[in-house]
Amino acid sequence: MIRVELPVLIFIYIYVFAVVVCGLWLFSGWQRQKRRKQALRYAVRCTICASIFEDKTTDPLPRCPRCGSLNERRQLGGL
Ligand SMILES: [Zn+2]
Repeated sequence: MIRVELPVLIFIYIYVFAVVVCGLWLFSGWQRQKRRKQALRYAVRCTICASIFEDKTTDPLPRCPRCGSLNERRQLGGL
């Protein structure tokens, strides 16, 4: 049996805890970014009334729900 001193054990615990927390933090950030990117993919800005709406169809010219005009699908946010 390998004898591990208590301070070393505590250090290992803290180290493992920090790694887990960092991992979860990175994962949540990645998830958030993915969601944001996905939301932006469906976002269409109306050229007439400037309202931003979501359109999940494959229609190349989605219709604005506010003023009813047809809009060109364009990427928002430069992503
Ligand atoms: Zn509009």
